[in-house]
Amino acid sequence: MKLPIYMDNHSTTPVDPSVLEAMLPYFTNKFGNAASRSHPFGWEAEEAVEKSRVQIGKLIGSGHKEIIFTSGATESTNIALKGTAEMTCEKGNHIITQVTEHKATLDSAKYLEKHGCQVTYLPVDQNGMVDPLDVEKAITPKTILITIMHANNEVGTIQPIGEIGKIAKKHGVLFHVDAAQTLGRLAISVDQMGIDILSVSGHKIYGPKGIGALYVRRTNPRVRLSPIVHGGGHERGIRSGTLNVPAIVGFGQACELASSLMDEESRRITELRDRLMKGIMGALPDVFLNGHPSLRLCGNLNLSFAYVEGEALMMGLNDIAVSSGSACTSASLEPSYVLRSMGKPEELAHTSIRFGLGRFNTEEEVQFVITRVVETVTKLREMSPLYEMAKQGIDLKSVQWDVPH
Ligand SMILES: *Cc1c(COP(=O)(O)O)cnc(C)c1O
Repeated sequence: MKLPIYMDNHSTTPVDPSVLEAMLPYFTNKFGNAASRSHPFGWEAEEAVEKSRVQIGKLIGSGHKEIIFTSGATESTNIALKGTAEMTCEKGNHIITQVTEHKATLDSAKYLEKHGCQVTYLPVDQNGMVDPLDVEKAITPKTILITIMHANNEVGTIQPIGEIGKIAKKHGVLFHVDAAQTLGRLAISVDQMGIDILSVSGHKIYGPKGIGALYVRRTNPRVRLSPIVHGGGHERGIRSGTLNVPAIVGFGQACELASSLMDEESRRITELRDRLMKGIMGALPDVFLNGHPSLRLCGNLNLSFAYVEGEALMMGLNDIAVSSGSACTSASLEPSYVLRSMGKPEELAHTSIRFGLGRFNTEEEVQFVITRVVETVTKLREMSPLYEMAKQGIDLKSVQWDVPH
């Protein structure tokens, strides 16, 4: 076993060896521009790009012509929101989303608010779930788009996408889903789920970084989106720019691999995740699970550790690559907005750790992480006066603190 251990697979994943192998020829002898129609170099590149569209489409139940290549899920989501708003501005200007979306969605929505749109940010419950009834109640004659993520990248909660899709269809409103965390992990069917636009990313499923896709429905209804990048008219005019053929080939291969491994892999990763959870929670009191107890991504374990300091905890886990809801690891000073929106108290949001298990994690690594987490938290609590007081039954909320000026 090698240190450090990588357990941050919601942030990114390593490129699978077979993905790299598929990509390599497209950097060297197969270097053509997929838009070059007049010679074999172009044809060869175009053929590879079309194959990738088929591979991605298979994973979401769409046709290959409905796949638009982008630089990632962030760009896909920007196009989905801004492109819909601009295209449908005569019909209305109202968008419905929810508070624990990825920043790609929330910040695009905020941008649109500055440009004349109205946005409803629905709340979530303590498990991070949005209520489909709230979605339906928020719809007005001016509503042009509902955008809800499939699964959350911090706490792993899976949203009731199928139910929301039905509501969107019933009211004739377009439905966009950010599926960056679920492509290749959960079954997706754009038809059964009533999805019109879908954002996905290569590097979350063992493909390369800097490549993503946008599914844009072509029938029932035919979705039209205004571009945000203008130019040569590539990708049905929705996203101009010469295609990144090697990355596209890699993304396609990553999808092919994911569809063949999905069932077995999610069983294996669920087992590792549950072992990790039981190992930690069985050995330590006052540890809380964040996110939905069962409707969650198989590789996600998000825990809050009471009576320890978030920064000290992360420092103690320095040979394990995980993510924290604490201020110290992010650019902002706020604790995780996702945990706060779920009603978690600030002190628990600050001491949350997200373990993100993936394809290459082993039982041995899980065992190491359990031991290291239990050791570190136990040691930090032994040094903590707060924990001492809590053990003596003092209600910490009732304590009058003497705050130095
Ligand atoms: C990673 C992620 C994104 C952004 O994807 P990029 O391809 O890195 O731009 C968007 N939404 C969710 C839920 C994600 O996990």
